[in-house]
Amino acid sequence: MYNFNMKKLKYDVVIIGGGTSGCACAYNCAKNNLKTLLVEKNNFLGGLMTAGLVVPVMRSSCEDLNCDYYKKLVDTSKKYNAQITYQGNNDGWFNPELLKIIFDDILSENKISKNLDILFETDVKEVKLREKKIEYVILNSRLLSIPIYSSYFVDATGIGALSKLAGCHFLDDTEIKQQNSLRFILGNVDTEKFCKFIESVDLDRDITNTYRNDIYTNNELHFTTACTWDTNKKWALDEYLKKGVEEGLLNEGDRAYFQVFSIAAGHGQVAFNCPRINNFNDNPYKYSNELIVARKAIYRLYKFVKAFFPGFENAVISNIAAQTGIREEGRVKSRYIYTKDDLISSNTFENPVLSANYSIDIHSDKKNKSVLQKTSVYQLPIESLISAEVNNLFTIGKLVGADFNAHSALRVQKSCMSMGEAVGKYIAKIIS
Ligand SMILES: Cc1cc2nc3c(=O)[nH]c(=O)nc-3n(C[C@H](O)[C@H](O)[C@H](O)COP(=O)(O)OP(=O)(O)OC[C@H]3O[C@@H](n4cnc5c(N)ncnc54)[C@H](O)[C@@H]3O)c2cc1C
Repeated sequence: MYNFNMKKLKYDVVIIGGGTSGCACAYNCAKNNLKTLLVEKNNFLGGLMTAGLVVPVMRSSCEDLNCDYYKKLVDTSKKYNAQITYQGNNDGWFNPELLKIIFDDILSENKISKNLDILFETDVKEVKLREKKIEYVILNSRLLSIPIYSSYFVDATGIGALSKLAGCHFLDDTEIKQQNSLRFILGNVDTEKFCKFIESVDLDRDITNTYRNDIYTNNELHFTTACTWDTNKKWALDEYLKKGVEEGLLNEGDRAYFQVFSIAAGHGQVAFNCPRINNFNDNPYKYSNELIVARKAIYRLYKFVKAFFPGFENAVISNIAAQTGIREEGRVKSRYIYTKDDLISSNTFENPVLSANYSIDIHSDKKNKSVLQKTSVYQLPIESLISAEVNNLFTIGKLVGADFNAHSALRVQKSCMSMGEAVGKYIAKIIS
């Protein structure tokens, strides 16, 4: 291990986790002249947006509050031709591979990089607490194992890695669990042919949409369609998935959730938001086995679409997510626990961090038990991002201190980015 023989390393803010919310936070801290360290265990940034292959950003009307970073992401992605604006004005369709370069680019801007250090392939190993504050963390990488001091710490790991080490409690208010997914991408798909097919089977366009626009999609045809084993909608692809089961290409469980999207600048590539994985987040052995089960399901789905869907005849598996798609795996006890009632009744707060309207969205493992409940515009208070137990710790993104139902709405990428931005600005205000 490299021995840094230098004077005490001290930052204003240390952010653990360079994913969706962590990058937004790092950008805003550095922009506000805070000496910032961003620590990421992968060798690239983006978290679920890159390693998890989670595309596209779900639409949510948080245009007016803490959306500067999101806008920056859209504008920078345009420069790389890595973004399209889909039907309904959703400008959050990004290319997950190019995003790795784009996040680097955004955080390398002069005014940002002068205040920001980034450590890749680095994990947090130990936390030293003093008087209800984190005094320092010990980081762990191939090159580094030293204490890093900071005035404020942000846990943006999605799994609460820093909060666990700091002894924080997690909210435990539900027996229900969100289903996980292992997303993947198929390449070499004739997307024009597939679009013609889905348009011909989903005549009322209830589930399926295709979209081409000179400016917004660079005149390329984009699409989305879905099918689940729930009976709440007339799923146009249902009969095909049922046939796939009858012919032994698919298992019954593969019908649980099937969703595909075209990818910005991903010519011939199709992103799959499936297969679902049973939630064994509390049992590492079962959880690990589920990943093997999921990869088998990916292979079945691949064989199925090749056999059943025009356009997929020559498809190849081009990418299986390196990060498992876990929707919820720990919400940290915060100063204010945000509830479904706050969300439904559109409660307002003194220090709101976002203004959004994404639905309550629960993926159930049981037929007809999934929930997609529309909401009006709601706010989230900053106190739901501040640890109730450690005074200089913020917990953002998927870790938001909200009840299970409210979390299912707040967890989408745009809201996670707003949380990161809001915390960056908030810390800058306290320190100034
Ligand atoms: C299957 C699935 C589908 C989804 N679909 C959509 C969708 O279509 N649209 C949408 O808007 N949202 C969607 N979401 C929600 C959204 O993608 C996530 O909730 C959001 O990206 C979470 O952001 P985050 O910053 O909390 O976590 P992440 O983006 O996961 O970032 C966490 C980062 O922390 C790093 N990390 C973890 N542990 C450590 C450690 N110990 N040390 C250092 N670094 C660490 C990780 O490597 C990662 O980079 C989906 C989520 C899932 C799981």
